[in-house]
Amino acid sequence: MENKETSTLRDGELALINKYTRREHKAEEIYAFTVTLCDNDIDRDFERFSDDALDVLSKLFVGRTGICDHSAKSENQKARIFSCYTEKPEGEQTRDGRQYKRLCARAYMLKTEQNKNLIAEIEAGIKKEVSIGCSMGSHTCSICGKSRAEGCVHRKGKRYGNALCHTVLSNPQDAYEWSFVAVPAQRRAGITKSFEKKERKNLTNIDIVKQLGAGEEITLSANEAASLSLYIGELKTLCEIGKSFIAEKRTAVIGGIEKALSGVSAETIKAIAEKMSVSELDELYRAFQKEKGAKVQLAPKTKINKSENLDFMI
Ligand SMILES: [Zn+2]
Repeated sequence: MENKETSTLRDGELALINKYTRREHKAEEIYAFTVTLCDNDIDRDFERFSDDALDVLSKLFVGRTGICDHSAKSENQKARIFSCYTEKPEGEQTRDGRQYKRLCARAYMLKTEQNKNLIAEIEAGIKKEVSIGCSMGSHTCSICGKSRAEGCVHRKGKRYGNALCHTVLSNPQDAYEWSFVAVPAQRRAGITKSFEKKERKNLTNIDIVKQLGAGEEITLSANEAASLSLYIGELKTLCEIGKSFIAEKRTAVIGGIEKALSGVSAETIKAIAEKMSVSELDELYRAFQKEKGAKVQLAPKTKINKSENLDFMI
């Protein structure tokens, strides 16, 4: 490694790096390397960055420091990105057949004793898995283009015709830290992202029911789940009230029909009443009530019973 001091730096890079250091560093003090931060391919979470997003991120990530996971204890084991670029390797395609595009970063660290092992790992070509933190302004459905926050009927990871449904991440708002972990070479080099998810406003119970009805996959916060559970409890109570109300109406309607029609068996009337919709039942119920009301004399207004009201007198 000692003989490779200058080989890790490309033309003009030392000047870029020295913009970030307190003192001027010599090329031999610096170890520079390239990492792929992210790309436009559909990842294992069925998400991908839009091509434009990669261009914007290439500006946002410049100057950001990265942490090397297995040695996070040491403040010095940090690398800083000093330049970013996107590239489209010829002939490489994404899993859904688009031109592959990736965001690469050039990062540097100082050749200190503490960084020695890490540098050796990178030098040895051990694959690096990069985790990035960024805030994306829009998360949209690849099938219909609707915002994921808004919801649609398409599910991530499902195929619609030939199209694999995924989430397109675009409109980057900010880039935060990144970290890279050296992983065994046999493991498929991949990108893991930890998004600073935009604060999602709480879903109302109506929203949740709507999304569930549309077959949309949905993740609830603890608050939302508690609220939904309460809502279901209320609905259950209302349902019980409704059921007993309908039963009452049905009994009244059966009684009304029995009175109105002689010669029809109680079983037949019951069977008909059981098949009636709530609105049919209601219509008949009202009709019988009206008829009954016309026949029944209005009760006289009750007189105030003085003895019962004594309690309220002072
Ligand atoms: Zn959709």
